[in-house]
Amino acid sequence: MGLNLIVLVKQVPDTQNISGEAMKEDGTVNRAALPAIFNPEDLHALEAALQVKEQNPGSKVTVITMGPASAVQVLKESLYRGADTVALVSDRRFAAADTLATSYALKCAIEKTGAFDIVFCGRQAIDGDTAQVGPQTAEKLGINQITCVSGIEDLDGKKKTVTAKRSIEGGYEVVKCGLPVLLTMTDEGFSPRPPSAIRMLSYKNASTEVTSAGYDESYMDDTSKLKDTNYIHLWDIEALGADVQSCGLAGSPTKVKKIESVVLKSGEIRMVENTEEAVSSMVHDLIADHTLG
Ligand SMILES: Cc1cc2nc3c(=O)[nH]c(=O)nc-3n(C[C@H](O)[C@H](O)[C@H](O)COP(=O)(O)OP(=O)(O)OC[C@H]3O[C@@H](n4cnc5c(N)ncnc54)[C@H](O)[C@@H]3O)c2cc1C
Repeated sequence: MGLNLIVLVKQVPDTQNISGEAMKEDGTVNRAALPAIFNPEDLHALEAALQVKEQNPGSKVTVITMGPASAVQVLKESLYRGADTVALVSDRRFAAADTLATSYALKCAIEKTGAFDIVFCGRQAIDGDTAQVGPQTAEKLGINQITCVSGIEDLDGKKKTVTAKRSIEGGYEVVKCGLPVLLTMTDEGFSPRPPSAIRMLSYKNASTEVTSAGYDESYMDDTSKLKDTNYIHLWDIEALGADVQSCGLAGSPTKVKKIESVVLKSGEIRMVENTEEAVSSMVHDLIADHTLG
C-alpha cells in the first residue's frame, strides 16, 4: 500500500551569497537585494520523499510551503522534480509569524491533507536558522520525530515503522520508531535530483491564480478549479480552519527588541595561538566582555 508523504519547504533569501546591500540601515534583511531560493536542506527533504515514493508504489508526495505569493516558485520547482501535489499556505494574517505560529499553520495544513505517514522537512532554514519548526510541528501533530536525519536505513510500509540514521556530534545514531513520523533532514544524504525537462514543460504554467494585487477570492471559492496535478492549492486561514489568534503576529510571542548590524573590521581580528593557554585566555576575555555566558 502506498504512503502519504508530506514535504515542508521554505523559500529563503540566499544568505550564503551576501553582497554589500544585503542589510538595510535599520539592520533588517534587504530581501530585494538577495535572490530568493529553495532552502537548501529542503531540497534533500524533497529528494528523500521522492525516493521513498519510488520504493513504495502507490505513494504520493505533497509539498507545502507557507509564504507570500512569490513562494509559488519553490512549489513549481517541487513539481519539476517530481512532487504530485503542492499547496501554498498564504494569507496576510500569517505575516510576521515566529516559529510557534509557523508550526501551527503548517500543522493545520498537514491535517488538511488527510491521513499521512511521513512529514519530511529540512533541519534548518538559512534565514531564520532556528531549527525549531520541524520539532514544533511534530509536537503539535502529536507524532514521533527524528531530527538531523542523514539516511533512511529501513522503511516497513506494512508494519509502519522507519529506521533512520541521525547525525550527532562526533558520529551518528540509528533510531527506529512507528509511523506517522516527522523527519528533519540534513544535507548529508539524498543528493537532490535535477528538475525534469518534461515536467518543466508540463508545469511551467502551474499557478494558484494569485494576482499581483493579492489573491483571487473567486478562485478560493471555486475548489473545482483546484485539480491535484495541474494547479497549486492556495490555502488561507479559513481554508485551513485555523484559529486566527494563533496565526501570524497575533500568535507569535517572540518580540524583537533590537536589531544590531555587526560589521567586523580587520583591525578587530585577533590571532590566537593554537595552545591551551591562549585559547583559555581568549575564552576568559569573551566571558569578561559578556560575548559568552
Ligand atoms: C533573521 C531572523 C531571525 C529570526 N529569529 C527568530 C527567533 O528568534 N524566534 C522565532 O520564533 N522566530 C524567528 N524568526 C522567524 C522565523 O524565521 C520564522 O518564524 C520562520 O517562519 C520559521 O523559522 P526558521 O526560519 O528558523 O525555520 P527552521 O525551524 O530553521 O526551519 C526548519 C524547517 O522547517 C520547514 N519550514 C520552516 N518554515 C517554513 C515555512 N514557512 N513553510 C514551510 N516549511 C517551513 C522547512 O522544512 C525548514 O527547513 C527569525 C527570522 C529571521 C529572518
